[in-house]
Amino acid sequence: MALSEFAGEWIDHTMIYHTFRAWRERMGRYRLAGSRCRSCGEIWFPRRHGVCGKCNSTDIEDYQCAQEGVLAEFIIKDNPFTDLSGSRDYGRGKRVVAMVKLDDGLYVWSDVVDCLPEKVTVGMRLRMVTRKWMRESNSNWQYGYKFVPA
Ligand SMILES: [Zn+2]
Repeated sequence: MALSEFAGEWIDHTMIYHTFRAWRERMGRYRLAGSRCRSCGEIWFPRRHGVCGKCNSTDIEDYQCAQEGVLAEFIIKDNPFTDLSGSRDYGRGKRVVAMVKLDDGLYVWSDVVDCLPEKVTVGMRLRMVTRKWMRESNSNWQYGYKFVPA
């Protein structure tokens, strides 16, 4: 952990989140863009490159994943760095990390925000929103999907 000299906030990781890769994967983060195989119809999130894992076809297209789903499973984690995750006002030092089953059948790990942890239940309807995620290596804020009660 280190206190960033220019940002004046605690950086809770020593990894570097590469800006180039973040740029390439931005549509996945911003709007849940995945992939679909034109041959067999299999869908993926995150985006898949090259070859279909089901039928070996190379005919893969972009796919817009469902923006809503149900909460399949979740854990509540202590989060001492609530400023960084943008969930400071909602979780009081807690962070809800959930497996969300989207309406098209895909599963996505994500945070549930705008909802107190004690109100979170398995089976609740959720919809995607775009929120702060983390700092990139050039100190820009990276934004991405999180889920709120629908
Ligand atoms: Zn396929």
